[in-house]
Amino acid sequence: MRLVFATNNKHKLEEMRAILGGKVELLSLADIDCHDDIPETADTLEGNALIKARYIYDKYGCACFADDTGLEVDALGGEPGVYSARYAGENNDSEANMRKLLQNLTGKSERSAQFRTVIALIIEGEEFLFDGIVRGRISEERMGSAGFGYDPIFVPDGYEESFAQMAAEQKNAISHRSRAASALNDYLETL
Ligand code: IMP
Repeated sequence: MRLVFATNNKHKLEEMRAILGGKVELLSLADIDCHDDIPETADTLEGNALIKARYIYDKYGCACFADDTGLEVDALGGEPGVYSARYAGENNDSEANMRKLLQNLTGKSERSAQFRTVIALIIEGEEFLFDGIVRGRISEERMGSAGFGYDPIFVPDGYEESFAQMAAEQKNAISHRSRAASALNDYLETL
């Protein structure tokens, strides 16, 4: 089956190809010649994933899915959540985002958090949502330099290292994104 993943992020695409395996021909936005800047204006992860998937489905009429991810910190009422990429401003600066988050947690001992990925799938006009969660906590300081985004300050439950101190394969084995992708894969296998 052919499925469009509404992304141009090569890492996401490769990770998804590895999980979905050979039964799915996975195309990126570039592969279908879509270069539009799709607005992400919803205030939930589900909303943004659906906006992107509906945009592609409505314009190209093909089976497709889109994802959206946020870091949800319990002591901050789920912030930054859907605003994770632009927590400290519009220019997606991970350093500034981490600084703001650490500042907002200064002096707090309750530091539990989760990464959550939502995938919205549309097949023949029918919409499906899948999610993947990894629980953990926000460390006091940055640790490690691998990965991206909030990885240096997120320590998954059961580990002492942050995501940024793990090999990519180790992170991918337990990550929010791979769990959401596995849920999508489980559904696709029933078709
Ligand atoms: P996106 O929806 O995948 O673009 O993710 C939104 C934002 O969440 C990113 O810009 C990052 O700040 C953060 N994020 C998503 N996934 C991860 C991750 O695996 N590690 C660290 N930060 C992440």
